[in-house]
Amino acid sequence: MSATARPEAGGSAHAALRRDDRGRFVDAQGRVDLKSLTRDAFVRFFVDDLGDSEARALRAYKCLWQDGARSIDEMTTVARATREKLKQVAYVYALEPELVLRSDDGTLKYLWKLEDGHAVESVLIPDGDRLTLCMSSQVGCAMACAFCLTGDLGLKRHLRPSEIACQPLQVGRQLPAGVRITNLVLMGMGEPLHNLDNLVEALTIALDDHALNLSHRKVTVSTVGLVPQMAELARRLPVNLAVSVNASNEAQRLAIMPITKKHSLEALIEACRRFPLPSGKRITFEYVMFDGFNDTEDDAQRLMDLLAGIPTKVNLIPYNPNPDRDLQPPPFERVKAFQHYLVTRGVNCSIRTTRGQDISAACGQLGKAWAQANAKGWLEDARRIAGYGSTSDVSDTAPTPPV
Ligand code: SF4
Repeated sequence: MSATARPEAGGSAHAALRRDDRGRFVDAQGRVDLKSLTRDAFVRFFVDDLGDSEARALRAYKCLWQDGARSIDEMTTVARATREKLKQVAYVYALEPELVLRSDDGTLKYLWKLEDGHAVESVLIPDGDRLTLCMSSQVGCAMACAFCLTGDLGLKRHLRPSEIACQPLQVGRQLPAGVRITNLVLMGMGEPLHNLDNLVEALTIALDDHALNLSHRKVTVSTVGLVPQMAELARRLPVNLAVSVNASNEAQRLAIMPITKKHSLEALIEACRRFPLPSGKRITFEYVMFDGFNDTEDDAQRLMDLLAGIPTKVNLIPYNPNPDRDLQPPPFERVKAFQHYLVTRGVNCSIRTTRGQDISAACGQLGKAWAQANAKGWLEDARRIAGYGSTSDVSDTAPTPPV
């Protein structure tokens, strides 16, 4: 196992990919990143560029996403002559986990090393009959929320559609037979709506019955509140929306979320009111709670007033303490009291169970796995041992299936 850039055979050795004049991601040699193509774009490429048929294009697309071909040579449903032609003009991007950390609570954190040496993380959370993958959309993040480690990195770059959609593909390949990812949440590294085009293409692949075939009812995109992009998301994809609100008034939000300077809390709530929700759907409002900051009964009252009239689900998240931050979660009784205040006044409100805290996989903790793993010598183990390491910290096995 190598810790350096690891494209598949015939793949691109760098990530300086750009969109060509037809909107496709190509490498420096002009080769198309096949896994960044939605089904429609893939078929157009096969028919227009290779002179092949639509039926054969569809078989090839399924081979990539459902049979898990990791190279053009593995696309065995494609005729040999076409594969040779393909190698000249395209490549298959294959994301591989560099490291998998297992929490005591069964949560798994995947560290993906990208072609250009950057790293991103995904977190797989078993919970009853649900198996949720929390995915990343950017390397780092530009939003600089005060409580989030990913924000410390700044934005390095956007992930391509292939780099986003390969996260559930590759995690799914490691699961035991009969076990599937049931839910996707875009709450990992990055602000998904800051990378809207690539996100929409990746999720189009995730929802496609010729590709990952996930239900749109089980996909949730979380945002800090990029107001224009929220409307655009609703126009392009029928997925669930979560809004990271975290404050009960403007000044409070401004203190912890710099995006508030650009899009005020009022504008955000107005955008939520306009968000076209199918009947029976609600917007999830995530509310990270900090000791002595946003945890009083007055806060609960103001939050309830703010959200009045919006089909709402409030998700309270006690802050996950971090040595790099001078912030603490409230005592749990205060979180319960906050929930009680809302619930007894008819607001749907739950408290999120913290998962994966021991491996820094909990909310706001992503982005330090690489340094953490290096410090603990886990990377060396992972490199020495073919596959993944054999210690209890570096998992070589699939996660415990949900019970
Ligand atoms: S909470 Fe989300 S949007 Fe804010 S800095 Fe972290 S990753 Fe970015």
